[in-house]
Amino acid sequence: MHRLLFPLLALTAALTFAIESTGSKLKVLIIDGQNNHKWDITTPVLKHALESSGAFVVEISTSPPKGSPAEAWSGWSPKFSDYAAVVSNYNGEPWPEPVRAAFDSYVKQGGGFVSVHAANNSFPEWKEYNQMIGVGGWGGRNADSGPWLYVKDGKLFRDTSPGNGGAHGPQHEFVVEVQNSDHPITRGLPKRWLHTQDELYSRLRGPAENIEILASAKSDLTAEQEPNLMVLSYGKGRVFHTTLGHADYSMLCRGFFETLQRGTEWVATGDTKVTGDVPADFPTESGLAIVPLDGYPKQPRPAAKK
Ligand code: ZN
Repeated sequence: MHRLLFPLLALTAALTFAIESTGSKLKVLIIDGQNNHKWDITTPVLKHALESSGAFVVEISTSPPKGSPAEAWSGWSPKFSDYAAVVSNYNGEPWPEPVRAAFDSYVKQGGGFVSVHAANNSFPEWKEYNQMIGVGGWGGRNADSGPWLYVKDGKLFRDTSPGNGGAHGPQHEFVVEVQNSDHPITRGLPKRWLHTQDELYSRLRGPAENIEILASAKSDLTAEQEPNLMVLSYGKGRVFHTTLGHADYSMLCRGFFETLQRGTEWVATGDTKVTGDVPADFPTESGLAIVPLDGYPKQPRPAAKK
């Protein structure tokens, strides 16, 4: 190699690494600011879930509130490329075109993206976003958005029947079933584990390309195995999509914490070296594992379906 070019390349690589990680920790950005869920209560839980693993340092970018004028939006432009992964806790108005373009380019060029619960309700009209998340719900999604996605006979099944995208019954505890134990996100986890009170998202639909379902749960609403944890590729980027996490009490489950940590590390690095061990208090098929957090849960818990 050219004797001047090599040091230059090495310096560029070192700088890139310095930007995306602090010490040995991965830099992660949580996006929030609008959601039909209590984003201001759940973002601190997401931050804690990530930072308590020791693998991440988390920053937060909060969008302008709903109904803000264009001037407010023009001042909001997260520097996605400064982060090893972006976690969305956002379900709201369309982002300005420059922000959408920057995010698309970030993931396409190898950035990591994690979609949490209602983040998959966002942006029904944004084609590239729906390719990233694979499937989503509500917002007018229908057969034109793509198929419903289930697990049938242990395999991914696309159902192109007409009907709306997005449904859930009353909140309840449910058993999450791992469909692929060979993936870094699910490796070593119990095949079946009891998730705490949450919405079981059902009938999600979308382009569903370059997607794998890692874990699912049987919905009483559809009698189908509905995807809970999914991984996708988008350009050079990786995406982890969890449908879990309706409320703070839904997130305060060791199963949610562990899969969020592993999923975020996997999208950021393609591996889960740091969070590879299964915690001793991970839920079992019949035993919940509630994560304690000072001052939480703050959200009132509606009566759960038995
Ligand atoms: Zn919800």
